[in-house]
Amino acid sequence: MIYDFDTTATSPVLPEVLTEYVRMLGEQGNNPSSTHAGGLRALHQVDEAKRIIARCLDCSAEEIIFTSGGTESINLALLGASRRNNRRPRRAVTTAGEHDAVIETFKVLRDDEGYEIDFVPLTPEGTADTDAFIQALEKAPCGLISLIVASNETGAVNDCGLLLPLVRERAPQAVTHGDIVQVCGKMPFSFRRSGFDFASLSGHKFGAPKGTGVLLKRKGAALSPIIHGGGQQHNFRSGTVNAPGAMALALALRFHSERLEAEREHVLAMHHLFLREIAARGVPHRVISPDGGSPYVLSIAFPGIRGETMLNALSAEGVYLSTGSACGSKRAGENHVLAAMGLDKQAILSAVRISFAPHHTDSDVRHLASRLADNYGRYASI
Ligand code: PLP
Repeated sequence: MIYDFDTTATSPVLPEVLTEYVRMLGEQGNNPSSTHAGGLRALHQVDEAKRIIARCLDCSAEEIIFTSGGTESINLALLGASRRNNRRPRRAVTTAGEHDAVIETFKVLRDDEGYEIDFVPLTPEGTADTDAFIQALEKAPCGLISLIVASNETGAVNDCGLLLPLVRERAPQAVTHGDIVQVCGKMPFSFRRSGFDFASLSGHKFGAPKGTGVLLKRKGAALSPIIHGGGQQHNFRSGTVNAPGAMALALALRFHSERLEAEREHVLAMHHLFLREIAARGVPHRVISPDGGSPYVLSIAFPGIRGETMLNALSAEGVYLSTGSACGSKRAGENHVLAAMGLDKQAILSAVRISFAPHHTDSDVRHLASRLADNYGRYASI
């Protein structure tokens, strides 16, 4: 039996979605751009998916662009918005807590388009430092802003209700992008009220198949395509629209949106149960995730044992967790988000990321705590 506590990296397709997805893959193979009846049926499916997503994320159907996932959405938003708005200041503000998809895209803007990028430091709680954010906005005119809403490393949640009005006051010309990959299906989110011009999400993080994603684009927000071809999706994203994938994403999002409060309470209960269980077993630990963040992500250090060692020991027993973002996992011992929170190398080396999900049970969590405690006893050197 596998105990998967790494659902921040990806999640299995929800059984409720899988049946419908497989049916659509088998039965409705037409291209939504074809003008025959089969194509129109596929187009209808895409439109229905948009209606469902629009209801879940409080946006309009016209604001939805389907992509292949979070990374593509982020690339499209940042590259496409900056290239289209090339008279805006070539200065971007983001945070030190962003996912690599944002950081690496900004590096492209820096190297290819001469952008200056300001990375706002994090507080010890893992959120963007508000005073430093204000300073960055006031330092010089700014054309582009990207903010991660919930951290994939710690679950820390940036208060966009506070930060976005600051942008509107101090940098009204700036285009804003939100990375809501770890928000969708886990926390309430209203695109309309968020104040973002763009927001990126990824289906495989909440029970839709891999290769599905969405970029939300506010009406009137200017965007150049980064993928060129047949002009699908109003030329913002060429390529045949993945109709079954779009519907699967919509169904998975709706599934969680209808259960958001209950799932969050359950996940929080699992998170607390785990902390109680390891405390009861006397495992020394330091919780890195802040209070009040997303309960779906727990960053925690176990002094005396490398996170990597714990990961490998548990993996051999069918218990999966991670030492941080799966995208950055090649650089063992380095974690730019934990470093930006001020953690020293030792703490970072001994940190692991545990993800809690709605399908976890008390006995799953007790199993994790017990295996972790045993392996700590076996491998820790204090
Ligand atoms: N942004 C965040 C916060 C993420 O957690 C991830 C994936 O880990 C991404 C972006 C990239 O999404 P995808 O894997 O769909 O490309």
